[in-house]
Amino acid sequence: MIKIDNLNKWFGKLHVLKDINLDIKEQEVVVIIGASGSGKSTLLRCINLLEQYQKGDITIKGETLGNGENINQIRQKVGMVFQRFNLFPHKSVIENVMEGPTQVKGTNKEEAELIAKELLAKVGLDDKSYQYPAQLSGGQQQRVAIARSLAMEPEIMLFDEPTSALDPELVGEVLQVMKDLAKEGMTMAVVTHEMGFAKEVADRVVYIDEGKIIEEGTPQQIFDNPREERTQEFLSKIL
Ligand code: ADP
Ligand code: MG
Repeated sequence: MIKIDNLNKWFGKLHVLKDINLDIKEQEVVVIIGASGSGKSTLLRCINLLEQYQKGDITIKGETLGNGENINQIRQKVGMVFQRFNLFPHKSVIENVMEGPTQVKGTNKEEAELIAKELLAKVGLDDKSYQYPAQLSGGQQQRVAIARSLAMEPEIMLFDEPTSALDPELVGEVLQVMKDLAKEGMTMAVVTHEMGFAKEVADRVVYIDEGKIIEEGTPQQIFDNPREERTQEFLSKIL
């Protein structure tokens, strides 16, 4: 599904991604962990073409990203959910979910509304369709953001610390939606510090430090038997 070859990115002189090689197979769930500033967000943003990179290739479903030309096409295939939900505050929940299909895909309003209702039911929010984001809890807003992303029918979903901005009691409801998605076979790359989620859902865990992939393996390998000292050190701080 996604093939990343020798990806390198600099912000000015700062070398933030160093020879990243990573393949994500169809229906695979890859969890990316690493300290703050290690390049996790930048990596996801490169996959979604929110950032340009200077060296290496990213291929999505056989199509190599041209660093700009096919941005809209790629963004439709690759959904992204951020730490901050970024909903349109002046639009109702259902309008938020309909926005992408009607504005980008040219779906007619009636059909977009049907799709949106289905997706809101899926994330457990069909009763909130006509409320505004400010009237919802953070967990509910994040579930709307997931529904909004799914409305574009992406082939892969990227999650960048989707629960870090939430009060602890709201984390579970968002993780549940993500677990359901994974069970349905969605291909996912998830940056998170929720190790319970990683253990339960991830096919693979990738540990990044200072822009480099230090180690990857099954959750069991990484959490119970990390090979690298740096991985052990990182895990001892967060577990
Ligand atoms: P993480 O998500 O793992 O916390 P980031 O990918 O956000 O890390 O950041 C990696 C490094 O790149 C950090 O040193 C950060 O300060 C730097 N960085 C991120 N975004 C920018 C930017 N737009 N301009 C300059 N430096 C940036
Ligand atoms: Mg980040």
